Amino acid sequence: MKSTPINPKSEHHRINRQFASDNYAGICPQAWDAMQQANTGHTPAYGEDPWTTKATDTIRNFFETNCEVFFVFNGTAANSLAVSALCQPYHSVICHETAHLETDECGATEFFSNGTKILLVPGSHGKVDLAEVEKTVKRRSDIHYPKPRMLSLSQATEVGTVYTADELSQAGELCDRLGLSLHVDGARFVNALAHLNTSPADLTWKAGVDVLCFGGTKNGMAVGDAIVFFNIDAARDFEFRCKQAGQLASKMRFLSAPWISMLENNHWHLHAANANRCASILETKLQQIPGVRLLYPSQANSVFVELPPLVIETLRSRGWLFYTFIGVGGARFVCAWDSTETDVEALAKDVQQAMNNPDSQPASPTHGTTEDPS
Ligand SMILES: *Cc1c(COP(=O)(O)O)cnc(C)c1O
Repeated sequence: MKSTPINPKSEHHRINRQFASDNYAGICPQAWDAMQQANTGHTPAYGEDPWTTKATDTIRNFFETNCEVFFVFNGTAANSLAVSALCQPYHSVICHETAHLETDECGATEFFSNGTKILLVPGSHGKVDLAEVEKTVKRRSDIHYPKPRMLSLSQATEVGTVYTADELSQAGELCDRLGLSLHVDGARFVNALAHLNTSPADLTWKAGVDVLCFGGTKNGMAVGDAIVFFNIDAARDFEFRCKQAGQLASKMRFLSAPWISMLENNHWHLHAANANRCASILETKLQQIPGVRLLYPSQANSVFVELPPLVIETLRSRGWLFYTFIGVGGARFVCAWDSTETDVEALAKDVQQAMNNPDSQPASPTHGTTEDPS
């Protein structure tokens, strides 16, 4: 593992909450409690346990439809296995230039699908431009081109924006017309849901989504994403794919049990709404600081701003960990289920001070990182 430099003198390590990513946060008490409650006695392994059965039914209720559900360890596995279920090696999957699939999964999609090629399209605010999708599909139909077979959207997007139910329906109609299946990378699906106040059904199968990778980790769970197939046929033999990929948890109950409590008791909403609210407060505060430019509207739980390089260094030397996007000059701040208004105020205050008076000596560049985040 790469070691992450920490600055033990920094007060922010004592506060212990950062804005680098929502996966810097720990496990929420409700998910922790659900795991603890599942930790009684012996039960059949590999998903044959009552918690997994119940979690699957809970997800069906949540989406108000019959669907096939598989619990895997993380989002990268979920995305790449979902793609591999719907694409042949000679197919291609179309996604936004910034999609996690393309930028942050080390080629897992191509690996698990035995070569399905990713085709990139642009689009403002991190959303795919549907006209570009159509162009990409219609550009070629000959045997030398990797046949477009799937459109993949991230909801919420990598830059903290959200597709509306209408936008998703338009994407779904286009996919129908062009013979594409529709995949949604929902690592932050709950943040999009909380933002829109729409039903989970409207944002998925009613809009034509075939498969959703439903993220739990960033919502406060320890580990585990649910792959939800609304297109039941596409799930045929999928359990073999999961097993072969090393994604069949033997003690499955600890992956599945938290979903029951998180969805049945609306804890998902509590945590997603809190993260979104903190991001929105942070957005307002940062916008009020002269010289700070907002890069995207904050609709989910992250805020992207352009900051002068010296200000970025100053913030890092004060102990703040966050990702920057080379080229765009942007800093990304992500709020988590446990972020508080006090944390937001502390960060905004430091940004304000750094803008007024950036350290003349840039801090050691070992602080933080400029690598792409999750
Ligand atoms: C975090 C994230 C994932 C999943 O990443 P893992 O680290 O593999 O769990 C997938 N898509 C997006 C958009 C993400 O932000």
